[in-house]
Amino acid sequence: MENDSAVLKSINEILDSAITSLNPVITYLEGDERNKAVKNLQSAMKHAITSEQNLKTHVTVIKSLQAELKNDPSIDIPKRYNSMMKSVGRKVPKLKEHGKMTNFDEALKSLLRDRQEVVQESLNAEEGSDEEIVMTQSEMPSIDPFSGLTMTDPVRNIICSHIYDRSSVIDVLKRNPQVRCPIPGCGNKKFITLESVVPDNQVKKHLQKMKSQK
Ligand SMILES: [Zn+2]
Repeated sequence: MENDSAVLKSINEILDSAITSLNPVITYLEGDERNKAVKNLQSAMKHAITSEQNLKTHVTVIKSLQAELKNDPSIDIPKRYNSMMKSVGRKVPKLKEHGKMTNFDEALKSLLRDRQEVVQESLNAEEGSDEEIVMTQSEMPSIDPFSGLTMTDPVRNIICSHIYDRSSVIDVLKRNPQVRCPIPGCGNKKFITLESVVPDNQVKKHLQKMKSQK
Protein backbone atom coordinates (compact mmCIF):
# COMPACT_ATOMS: atom_id res chain seq x y z
CA MET A 1 0.00 0.00 0.00
CA GLU A 2 2.93 2.32 0.71
CA ASN A 3 4.12 1.74 -2.81
CA ASP A 4 0.66 2.57 -4.13
CA SER A 5 0.68 5.97 -2.50
CA ALA A 6 4.13 6.67 -3.96
CA VAL A 7 2.75 5.83 -7.39
CA LEU A 8 -0.28 8.06 -6.82
CA LYS A 9 2.05 10.85 -5.82
CA SER A 10 4.10 10.58 -8.98
CA ILE A 11 0.94 10.45 -11.09
CA ASN A 12 -0.03 13.72 -9.44
CA GLU A 13 3.36 15.14 -10.38
CA ILE A 14 2.79 14.14 -14.00
CA LEU A 15 -0.60 15.84 -14.00
CA ASP A 16 0.80 19.04 -12.50
CA SER A 17 3.71 19.21 -14.92
CA ALA A 18 1.39 18.65 -17.89
CA ILE A 19 -0.67 21.62 -16.67
CA THR A 20 2.42 23.77 -16.12
CA SER A 21 3.80 22.88 -19.57
CA LEU A 22 0.76 24.52 -21.15
CA ASN A 23 2.25 27.92 -20.45
CA PRO A 24 5.37 27.66 -22.67
CA VAL A 25 3.42 25.64 -25.25
CA ILE A 26 0.79 28.34 -25.72
CA THR A 27 3.26 31.20 -25.39
CA TYR A 28 6.00 29.99 -27.72
CA LEU A 29 4.37 27.64 -30.22
CA GLU A 30 1.90 28.42 -32.98
CA GLY A 31 -0.44 26.69 -35.40
CA ASP A 32 -0.04 22.96 -35.97
CA GLU A 33 2.97 22.71 -33.73
CA ARG A 34 1.00 24.15 -30.86
CA ASN A 35 -2.05 21.99 -31.51
CA LYS A 36 0.11 18.90 -31.60
CA ALA A 37 1.82 19.81 -28.33
CA VAL A 38 -1.53 20.50 -26.64
CA LYS A 39 -2.86 17.15 -27.87
CA ASN A 40 0.20 15.38 -26.47
CA LEU A 41 -0.31 17.03 -23.10
CA GLN A 42 -4.00 16.13 -23.17
CA SER A 43 -3.19 12.52 -23.86
CA ALA A 44 -0.57 12.51 -21.08
CA MET A 45 -3.30 13.82 -18.75
CA LYS A 46 -5.69 11.13 -19.95
CA HIS A 47 -3.21 8.29 -19.46
CA ALA A 48 -2.17 9.51 -16.03
CA ILE A 49 -5.77 9.93 -14.88
CA THR A 50 -6.72 6.49 -16.18
CA SER A 51 -3.76 4.92 -14.36
CA GLU A 52 -4.70 6.77 -11.22
CA GLN A 53 -8.28 5.55 -11.41
CA ASN A 54 -7.24 1.98 -12.13
CA LEU A 55 -4.86 2.00 -9.20
CA LYS A 56 -7.47 3.47 -6.87
CA THR A 57 -9.99 0.87 -8.00
CA HIS A 58 -7.42 -1.88 -7.45
CA VAL A 59 -6.67 -0.66 -3.91
CA THR A 60 -10.39 -0.53 -3.04
CA VAL A 61 -10.98 -4.01 -4.44
CA ILE A 62 -8.00 -5.53 -2.63
CA LYS A 63 -9.26 -4.09 0.66
CA SER A 64 -12.74 -5.53 0.31
CA LEU A 65 -11.34 -8.79 -0.99
CA GLN A 66 -9.26 -9.11 2.17
CA ALA A 67 -12.38 -8.56 4.25
CA GLU A 68 -14.36 -11.12 2.25
CA LEU A 69 -11.56 -13.62 2.51
CA LYS A 70 -11.74 -13.48 6.31
CA ASN A 71 -15.38 -14.51 6.21
CA ASP A 72 -15.04 -17.05 3.45
CA PRO A 73 -11.54 -18.41 2.79
CA SER A 74 -12.82 -20.58 -0.06
CA ILE A 75 -13.71 -17.81 -2.52
CA ASP A 76 -12.23 -17.88 -6.00
CA ILE A 77 -9.90 -14.91 -5.63
CA PRO A 78 -9.05 -14.12 -9.30
CA LYS A 79 -12.68 -14.46 -10.36
CA ARG A 80 -13.92 -12.31 -7.49
CA TYR A 81 -11.17 -9.75 -8.13
CA ASN A 82 -12.13 -9.39 -11.80
CA SER A 83 -15.83 -8.99 -11.14
CA MET A 84 -15.20 -6.46 -8.36
CA MET A 85 -12.80 -4.49 -10.57
CA LYS A 86 -15.57 -4.24 -13.12
CA SER A 87 -18.29 -3.15 -10.74
CA VAL A 88 -16.14 -0.67 -8.79
CA GLY A 89 -14.53 0.61 -11.98
CA ARG A 90 -17.92 1.60 -13.30
CA LYS A 91 -18.44 3.99 -10.40
CA VAL A 92 -15.19 5.81 -11.09
CA PRO A 93 -15.80 9.47 -12.01
CA LYS A 94 -15.39 10.41 -15.63
CA LEU A 95 -12.25 11.97 -17.04
CA LYS A 96 -13.88 15.37 -17.52
CA GLU A 97 -14.96 15.42 -13.89
CA HIS A 98 -11.43 14.92 -12.62
CA GLY A 99 -10.30 18.07 -10.80
CA LYS A 100 -6.94 18.16 -12.56
CA MET A 101 -8.57 17.80 -15.95
CA THR A 102 -10.79 20.76 -15.10
CA ASN A 103 -7.70 22.75 -14.09
CA PHE A 104 -6.03 21.75 -17.35
CA ASP A 105 -9.01 22.91 -19.42
CA GLU A 106 -9.26 26.15 -17.44
CA ALA A 107 -5.56 26.87 -17.83
CA LEU A 108 -5.75 26.15 -21.55
CA LYS A 109 -8.71 28.50 -21.93
CA SER A 110 -7.17 31.37 -20.00
CA LEU A 111 -3.80 30.98 -21.73
CA LEU A 112 -5.43 31.00 -25.16
CA ARG A 113 -7.56 33.98 -24.23
CA ASP A 114 -4.52 35.83 -22.96
CA ARG A 115 -2.48 34.95 -26.06
CA GLN A 116 -5.28 36.06 -28.33
CA GLU A 117 -5.46 39.41 -26.60
CA VAL A 118 -1.71 39.88 -26.94
CA VAL A 119 -1.95 39.09 -30.65
CA GLN A 120 -4.94 41.37 -31.05
CA GLU A 121 -3.23 44.24 -29.30
CA SER A 122 -0.17 43.85 -31.45
CA LEU A 123 -2.32 43.83 -34.57
CA ASN A 124 -3.77 47.09 -33.33
CA ALA A 125 -7.26 45.70 -33.45
CA GLU A 126 -10.24 47.98 -33.13
CA GLU A 127 -11.00 49.26 -29.70
CA GLY A 128 -14.01 48.32 -27.64
CA SER A 129 -15.70 44.92 -27.79
CA ASP A 130 -15.93 44.53 -24.06
CA GLU A 131 -15.37 40.82 -23.63
CA GLU A 132 -18.14 38.97 -21.92
CA ILE A 133 -17.37 38.43 -18.29
CA VAL A 134 -18.13 34.83 -17.45
CA MET A 135 -17.41 34.95 -13.76
CA THR A 136 -19.93 36.69 -11.55
CA GLN A 137 -18.98 39.68 -9.44
CA SER A 138 -18.80 37.70 -6.21
CA GLU A 139 -16.42 35.14 -7.72
CA MET A 140 -14.07 37.86 -8.92
CA PRO A 141 -11.21 38.21 -6.50
CA SER A 142 -9.92 41.72 -5.97
CA ILE A 143 -7.67 41.39 -2.91
CA ASP A 144 -4.18 39.97 -3.14
CA PRO A 145 -3.87 37.16 -0.56
CA PHE A 146 -0.20 37.94 0.14
CA SER A 147 -0.42 41.66 0.82
CA GLY A 148 -4.11 42.09 1.60
CA LEU A 149 -4.16 44.99 -0.87
CA THR A 150 -6.26 45.51 -3.97
CA MET A 151 -4.60 43.88 -6.95
CA THR A 152 -3.48 45.77 -10.03
CA ASP A 153 -1.80 43.04 -12.08
CA PRO A 154 -3.67 39.83 -11.29
CA VAL A 155 -2.13 36.49 -12.25
CA ARG A 156 -3.68 33.03 -12.06
CA ASN A 157 -1.91 29.99 -10.68
CA ILE A 158 -2.49 27.53 -13.50
CA ILE A 159 -2.41 24.52 -11.21
CA CYS A 160 -5.11 25.58 -8.73
CA SER A 161 -6.64 28.66 -10.46
CA HIS A 162 -6.10 30.95 -7.47
CA ILE A 163 -5.37 34.61 -8.19
CA TYR A 164 -2.60 36.82 -6.78
CA ASP A 165 -0.99 40.10 -7.70
CA ARG A 166 2.09 39.67 -9.87
CA SER A 167 4.16 42.13 -7.84
CA SER A 168 3.45 40.19 -4.63
CA VAL A 169 4.46 36.92 -6.25
CA ILE A 170 7.73 38.48 -7.41
CA ASP A 171 8.39 40.00 -3.96
CA VAL A 172 7.56 36.83 -2.09
CA LEU A 173 9.66 34.65 -4.39
CA LYS A 174 12.62 36.97 -3.94
CA ARG A 175 12.48 36.45 -0.22
CA ASN A 176 11.65 32.75 -0.33
CA PRO A 177 11.61 30.63 -3.51
CA GLN A 178 9.66 27.87 -1.75
CA VAL A 179 6.23 29.39 -1.33
CA ARG A 180 2.96 27.54 -1.79
CA CYS A 181 -0.46 28.89 -2.68
CA PRO A 182 -1.59 30.95 0.34
CA ILE A 183 -5.32 30.36 -0.16
CA PRO A 184 -6.67 28.43 2.87
CA GLY A 185 -7.66 24.88 2.00
CA CYS A 186 -5.96 24.92 -1.39
CA GLY A 187 -4.88 21.40 -2.39
CA ASN A 188 -2.03 22.59 -4.57
CA LYS A 189 1.17 21.58 -2.79
CA LYS A 190 3.50 22.82 -5.55
CA PHE A 191 5.77 25.76 -4.93
CA ILE A 192 4.74 28.85 -6.87
CA THR A 193 7.04 29.73 -9.76
CA LEU A 194 6.83 32.53 -12.31
CA GLU A 195 6.12 29.84 -14.92
CA SER A 196 3.09 28.56 -13.04
CA VAL A 197 1.29 31.92 -13.03
CA VAL A 198 -0.33 33.52 -16.06
CA PRO A 199 -1.94 36.94 -16.48
CA ASP A 200 -5.69 36.92 -15.88
CA ASN A 201 -7.22 39.56 -18.09
CA GLN A 202 -10.76 38.84 -16.98
CA VAL A 203 -9.96 39.74 -13.41
CA LYS A 204 -7.84 42.65 -14.59
CA LYS A 205 -10.72 44.11 -16.56
CA HIS A 206 -13.00 43.65 -13.60
CA LEU A 207 -10.56 45.51 -11.34
CA GLN A 208 -10.28 48.34 -13.84
CA LYS A 209 -14.04 48.58 -14.00
CA MET A 210 -14.30 48.66 -10.20
CA LYS A 211 -11.69 51.42 -10.07
CA SER A 212 -13.44 53.55 -12.64
CA GLN A 213 -16.74 53.23 -10.78
CA LYS A 214 -15.24 54.70 -7.63
ZN1 LIG B 1 -4.32 27.64 -4.77
